[in-house]
Amino acid sequence: MSQQKPTALPNIITPSSPVIFNPDICNGCNHCVEVCQIDVYIPNPEKGKPPIILHPDECWYCGCCANDCPRPGAMKFNWPLQSRGYWKNKATGEIHQI
Ligand code: SF4
Ligand code: SF4
Repeated sequence: MSQQKPTALPNIITPSSPVIFNPDICNGCNHCVEVCQIDVYIPNPEKGKPPIILHPDECWYCGCCANDCPRPGAMKFNWPLQSRGYWKNKATGEIHQI
């Protein structure tokens, strides 16, 4: 029987990341892992660390993980460029993006 531990490798082809974790605030409670219905995340094998984003391209940006996170600031949404709202100043033409 093999002594090797199973390893999960995040999708390295897709550079996108649906959220950005703040490891200073996230305590690795894994609540976001549990609420995501399509298993974008898996728990970090290192206790207390932010989850691993295993399938970033499967995220449909429902927002459940961020809404249910009990620690404000632990994760920040990273909207895809085409989904980000923006405003244009009519007078100056300046673009303001979220
Ligand atoms: S981002 Fe929030 S819900 Fe997810 S593991 Fe960190 S503290 Fe828990
Ligand atoms: S936004 Fe929705 S689909 Fe995307 S990771 Fe969070 S819970 Fe999962």
